[in-house]
Amino acid sequence: MAKVTVVGGGLSGMLSALRLLELDAGIEVEIYEGSDRLGGKAGANLIEVDGKKVRADHGYHIFPTWYANAWQLIDQLGIRGNYIPFDTTYAINKGDWPKLILTKSPTSLGAVIYDIFNGTLPPLQMFLFMYLNLDLMSQKIGYDNQLDEFSVNGFLHSRFYGTEAMAEVFRTTLLQTISTPPYLLSAKTLQVATKFFSAHPSPSVSVLNTSLQEGFIDPIADRLEQLGCKVYLNHTLKTVKTDGDAASELGFVDEAGNDVTVALDRVVMAIPPLDLATVLDDNLNIYDVAPSLYDTKYLGARPMAALNIYCNTVIPNLPEQHVLLTGSQYGLTFIDVAQVWDDLKGGNTVLNVIASDYVPLEHLSEEQATNAILEDLRNYVPVLTDDVIDQTYLQSHTDQPLFMNYTGSWEHRPDPSKKQGLNNLFLTGTYCRTQANLATMEGAIESGNLTANAVRADLGISGDVPVPQITYFPRWLILLMKAFMFPFVVIVWLLVLIFNRK
Ligand SMILES: Cc1cc2nc3c(=O)[nH]c(=O)nc-3n(C[C@H](O)[C@H](O)[C@H](O)COP(=O)(O)OP(=O)(O)OC[C@H]3O[C@@H](n4cnc5c(N)ncnc54)[C@H](O)[C@@H]3O)c2cc1C
Repeated sequence: MAKVTVVGGGLSGMLSALRLLELDAGIEVEIYEGSDRLGGKAGANLIEVDGKKVRADHGYHIFPTWYANAWQLIDQLGIRGNYIPFDTTYAINKGDWPKLILTKSPTSLGAVIYDIFNGTLPPLQMFLFMYLNLDLMSQKIGYDNQLDEFSVNGFLHSRFYGTEAMAEVFRTTLLQTISTPPYLLSAKTLQVATKFFSAHPSPSVSVLNTSLQEGFIDPIADRLEQLGCKVYLNHTLKTVKTDGDAASELGFVDEAGNDVTVALDRVVMAIPPLDLATVLDDNLNIYDVAPSLYDTKYLGARPMAALNIYCNTVIPNLPEQHVLLTGSQYGLTFIDVAQVWDDLKGGNTVLNVIASDYVPLEHLSEEQATNAILEDLRNYVPVLTDDVIDQTYLQSHTDQPLFMNYTGSWEHRPDPSKKQGLNNLFLTGTYCRTQANLATMEGAIESGNLTANAVRADLGISGDVPVPQITYFPRWLILLMKAFMFPFVVIVWLLVLIFNRK
């Protein structure tokens, strides 16, 4: 019987295992995960609040409608009922509390006009900003062009109508939503995300009505168990041995500190590039046999921290939707999960805050970092005083940074549907090349799907799991819209030049 060893029990590892077992091809699959739970960054820890065990997400997660592989999985597991759709987000400007600024998804002309007149930019510049997105989307499709080597700011400044105010909007929103400043983010990544979002405007996103673990990861784990997958938690990979051009043995350390060795047939590495490099660097001759593995060292990552705030009262005026704090120092956004999680509804406010820009806080103590985030938050929500906060829970994630879609990364990202370097090794994860491109759950799930198909093909077993394609508007339609808008763009640009160009 063929055996596949999956290292890493995040979404990509879980999906590789699931899809390998699903077609009932008689493959033995085992997952070795370093932590005490499955799910990786898309899971939730069990913590104690007020003497009760509760789940705290690694960071709240949103599920856009354009995800194809994720929704295929969700439907297959029959868990769509766990999701609440949203068509709007809110922003708060510093010092403006309790005023909330509503942003609507572009579901109609009315919604687009509303956003032009109520956005973070003056209406004329907002119009140009929308055109910029269209302009970016219209650039040649495919990864054979050099758009991945341009930053978002580089693209903006190559446009005659680009303004500093537009760059400032990118700085705030991209840091908050993608954790990457626009001078580092690949224009290709933003192009792909904009194309997908614009083709699936309603509902633009959904959130879970419970924790990530209960609403999403546990149903996948249950399915894996039903299919006979062996899961070894608290097993951290330390060594990889090779024999010729194949990986022959893995060495793990278990919870009790014991060494565990595993002989290999096929191996799927579903751990992030930094963790992979840490292990491979201990066996440098791997790079002699498989120099392409050096490539993953070019990939960057940054921590996105999460702070849960458990209040002893209901903070009035907070919406149930996602809230962005405009210009926040640490790129703060939040969701009040007491309004969306079924088991918390009607109770006191529980804010799940994400600090997308944790770099300045990385070397502070937990208490100092928590206080810095609270201080930033209070510039926007001043009623969040010490008196109303019962407990906080910070996850800095400095040891689990998220892959960043930096300019020029595509060239170094491995293809999850091909063997990598060694003749029985597959790499998978959100950092691999996928349609989604952006570091998301969708990317992790798609890469898991692709890797399972590749392993099955390598074992000579027929049958593929269908990998759905993400749909978007054809380029000719975008070019047509651009052509229609262009005369207005020239007029608006001249008006901006004359009246309020910054
Ligand atoms: C704060 C935050 C918010 C996010 N929000 C969203 C969102 O709203 N929407 C969205 O789509 N995506 C979001 N993401 C991204 C998404 O969570 C990830 O892209 C996805 O979960 C990555 O899955 P993965 O399997 O590639 O990697 P991981 O989840 O990192 O899984 C890797 C696994 O490998 C294990 N591991 C590592 N080293 C070893 C070792 N040596 N031995 C054994 N095991 C090891 C880890 O413990 C982990 O379980 C967010 C991420 C963060 C951090």
